[in-house]
Amino acid sequence: MNGRDVRICEVGPRDGLQNLPIIVSTETKLALIDALVAAGVPEIDAGSFVPAKVVPQFGDAEAVFAHALRHTGVRIGALVPNEKGAERALAAGVKNLFFVVSASEAHNQANVRRTVEEQVAAFRALRKRIDASGERIHLVGAIATAFGCSISGRVPERAVRDLAIALAKAGADEIGLADTVGYGNPPLVKAIVAGVRADLGPAMPLRLHLHDTLGLGLANVYAGLEAGIRTFDASVSGLGGCPFAPGARGNVVTEDLVFMLEELGLSTGIDLDRLLATRAILAAAIPAEHLTGHLHEAGIPRALRRAA
Ligand code: ZN
Repeated sequence: MNGRDVRICEVGPRDGLQNLPIIVSTETKLALIDALVAAGVPEIDAGSFVPAKVVPQFGDAEAVFAHALRHTGVRIGALVPNEKGAERALAAGVKNLFFVVSASEAHNQANVRRTVEEQVAAFRALRKRIDASGERIHLVGAIATAFGCSISGRVPERAVRDLAIALAKAGADEIGLADTVGYGNPPLVKAIVAGVRADLGPAMPLRLHLHDTLGLGLANVYAGLEAGIRTFDASVSGLGGCPFAPGARGNVVTEDLVFMLEELGLSTGIDLDRLLATRAILAAAIPAEHLTGHLHEAGIPRALRRAA
């Protein structure tokens, strides 16, 4: 659908599932993806190409992507942590890759066992290898821990900006700023987005990936909107909590985000009722303590419903 004011990328099938203590069946993942497409979600992060022994949840990535990629007109993306993952994603026919680099040195080491510089070098090599193949691949430089790190706390703004510059120079088509652990706050979001925008200029697409760990998710979205961001990641039913903090909130809840944007007069092209219907698919497979969302709890007040 054209004419969206804000573009939402649904990351439930990837970020939402990766930390769950249970393995979700391939069948459920495919049903979720189909329901998201039916709701009009323009972009879906459908999984991760990581070794199954590291994250067993994505052992079926090839099967999930084979199905997801049949939905033409929807951008299907994959997270890749390294060159091997990228090769698997490309072999599966994925055209949108999120290559993750952490702004926090400690987090990058924990995540991919490399220095930030080594990970940027791997990104550069991947870009060259893709360009040499002649394939048209949208490569996102996804900056994890851009607003704080569970290991090292606050991450210096300069580190985030320098990493964004390095990834842009290495050939990123887009830069993602991820509040991986949910430590961001509105002024910090505004400052970092403004700084990265000033460094990279108006042409570089930027997106925000926000978590609601401390309850600031939608406030941070609002700060991002004010800073000019028009692409946000979110997760249906707020999937994506931390495995080490039972009950912790996950990504910004897609349903609540769509509702807020509509209340702000911003269109997303997403059918909210159909989006809310994804809860039934998740509830049949995932324990209730992992599912959140204000709209699910309150319902959409009849008095606030707009005429279709
Ligand atoms: Zn995340």
